[in-house]
Amino acid sequence: MNTNDITSSNKINVNSNKANASHYHHNLIVFTGDGKGKTTAALGCVLRTLSHNMNAIIYSFLKKDSLTKEFYLLEKLGIKVIKSQSPCTWNISEDEKIVCHKEWYELFDNIKSIILDRSNNINTIVLDEINHLFTINDFDASEFENFLSDLTNIQLNNKSEIKNIILTGRNCPNKIIKNSTICSEIKNLYHCYSNGEKPIKGIDF
Ligand code: ATP
Ligand code: MG
Repeated sequence: MNTNDITSSNKINVNSNKANASHYHHNLIVFTGDGKGKTTAALGCVLRTLSHNMNAIIYSFLKKDSLTKEFYLLEKLGIKVIKSQSPCTWNISEDEKIVCHKEWYELFDNIKSIILDRSNNINTIVLDEINHLFTINDFDASEFENFLSDLTNIQLNNKSEIKNIILTGRNCPNKIIKNSTICSEIKNLYHCYSNGEKPIKGIDF
């Protein structure tokens, strides 16, 4: 069993969240839960970043070819969208997991070098569907926490422009949530898919 797992009704102590809110030098914003709206909330924040003449960058951990149209629109607006080549999927072998983990470490290094170059003026980083790395593909959440601490050190030493790291995906591990600045658990009350209806153009894709 994956020790990173949490249930959607995880019981996070909100007060302890607040005590840890300044753990990093950036804001850590988490959109999790089983309801619709996590990625769209993150993209709404990207729009707000742009409206202040700051840049954002998006890393997607979705399966290949599952990027929805708005990501291409964002690219036209100058937002870099970087796709992980090792998507989160169920039923992969231990050997495949090793390959995935290696790529994710490289991706985190890539993020650090982009941040180090202040001319990129990146204010907001979206890590879309990253939470699945921990719950499906056994990526150690502690390693991710180390990465977030590295970002803080980079910021303290280089005064990078990074202010916001946004994570999306169901089942965000508690150990990440407890250091968040904002965490919303979006709860599914009803979605028409469950009634056999088709995804809605302009809303679901
Ligand atoms: P969105 O991209 O719409 O913000 P999301 O990021 O919260 O959704 P994902 O788990 O990434 O949710 O799912 C992506 C797709 O699945 C979207 O088309 C979304 O509309 C749909 N979806 C999200 N939540 C649900 C749900 N509870 N039931 C059925 N479909 C869902
Ligand atoms: Mg999503």
